[in-house]
Amino acid sequence: MSVLRRAPADILAEIAALRAADAPTHGGRVLSYVYDSGEPELDELAAGAARLMQPVNGLDPTTFTSVAAMEAGLVGFARRVFHGEGGHDAEAVVGSVTSGGTESCLLAVKGARDAWRAAGGSSAGGPRLVAPVTAHAAFHKAAEYFGLELDLVPVDPATGAPSAEAIASRLGDDVALVVVSAPSYPFATLDPVEEVAAACAAPGIPLHVDACIGGFALAFWPVAVPAWDFRVPGVTSLSADLHKYGYAPKGVSVLLTRGRDRQRHQYFATTGWPGYPVVNPTMAGSKPAGPLAAAWAITEAIGEPGFAELTSRAARATAALREAIARIEGLRVVGEPTGPLLAVAADERVAPERRVDPHHWADAARAAGWQLQLQPGLAQADGTRLPHTTHLTVTPVTESVADDLADALAAAADAVRGTPPIDGAALVGHLAEGLPGGTRALAAASAGLDSDAAAALLAAFGLLGGGDGSGGALPDRLAPVLALVEALPGALTERLLIELLARVVEPRA
Ligand SMILES: *Cc1c(COP(=O)(O)O)cnc(C)c1O
Repeated sequence: MSVLRRAPADILAEIAALRAADAPTHGGRVLSYVYDSGEPELDELAAGAARLMQPVNGLDPTTFTSVAAMEAGLVGFARRVFHGEGGHDAEAVVGSVTSGGTESCLLAVKGARDAWRAAGGSSAGGPRLVAPVTAHAAFHKAAEYFGLELDLVPVDPATGAPSAEAIASRLGDDVALVVVSAPSYPFATLDPVEEVAAACAAPGIPLHVDACIGGFALAFWPVAVPAWDFRVPGVTSLSADLHKYGYAPKGVSVLLTRGRDRQRHQYFATTGWPGYPVVNPTMAGSKPAGPLAAAWAITEAIGEPGFAELTSRAARATAALREAIARIEGLRVVGEPTGPLLAVAADERVAPERRVDPHHWADAARAAGWQLQLQPGLAQADGTRLPHTTHLTVTPVTESVADDLADALAAAADAVRGTPPIDGAALVGHLAEGLPGGTRALAAASAGLDSDAAAALLAAFGLLGGGDGSGGALPDRLAPVLALVEALPGALTERLLIELLARVVEPRA
């Protein structure tokens, strides 16, 4: 008897119909989330590789030796392009393939914490993790998961660049790890890796370079950039995502570590239960090998020359967009972006009526079919404020649409030039008036909400659908949402975001 209740073709058709509502993953109109090589045969190859590996369990590469072979291949490729070859004995660069950038960052922190403890470190507040405020949120998550105190160093609010001296001034015995980015996600800053490494060297503090987003592009960048990888002696670990500029499907990143003994702190092993002996290099137990195989297949297919060619396309498109944005009155590119991404802020040098608010601009571009990413402003610990910006991630495919995109960005700016940014505080006040209990209800909400109260607040803000509590699609305009994110207390916003995302996947009653 067949176990099928529905015809497979029917189910696949339903998936295709669901997919039709997604943001387009190809074609260059979405400038975040997707990293499109623009080469359909690479996508086909990746799919074929993943399919071949579908039945395999990555839990045990001694049983499924194909996993070990491809993991060694990918680690070897990464070690070569990030100049980690040739380290002897204690300095050998070794690595693991992980499920993504977040897992690479989490494991870098977990390993550093355990190495710090093993070296006799102890401190009342838990070891510290020092990083510029522009370090990826994955390090906030790591600090929370693994019990480190996150010590965020303010950056220059005009350029988004951290100062090596400011980072050096935070170093001490209780620091388990320093993190810098190559480049940073929010502003594409190439952090001062050599200077920070020099400061970390004397006290022997490990230094992680988060090259998750840009590593596999920066390694092939057509313009010379300061050394940021294992060429810098004090760099002890490095993360780089193959599912970004390695063009693999989601679920694959690499974490490299200098020194076998240092890297072994990343592992978990136990024989203390009655089941099979457990040894896990990464966070999952049973794990898929499909994304690993897809990434390996792509690196085999194109090698370093292919990466260089794809990177040069992304670099040309980035340069063209940078010039196009420089020609738009009222906007400015933040700082000195390095690599295929950039952030755009309002140009404060022109009069307010000639300024372009980057969030209104992004909404206008979105209405014209181009998705840019809105980033909120942020108050730093030193009292300065990072401006709110709009982020563009540029991929090889962007080159094929660069002229249309440049025109669309100029037109979007013309459409919103002079429109002032949304006053988040006023918006919060206005929304609070509509709440039973008014502003007092909001103040009370900041102290903590249960899920029904959070959902009610989201509904009052127009961010959750009707009585079934279902989350709808995002509103057409995101600028007001980001204004709320900036104006509401962080803990409240975080609680509301959790509720929103949780309700989106709740089955309908
Ligand atoms: C994307 C990114 C991460 C996290 O990676 P995920 O793959 O989204 O988990 C970490 N650091 C930087 C700089 C990133 O851009």
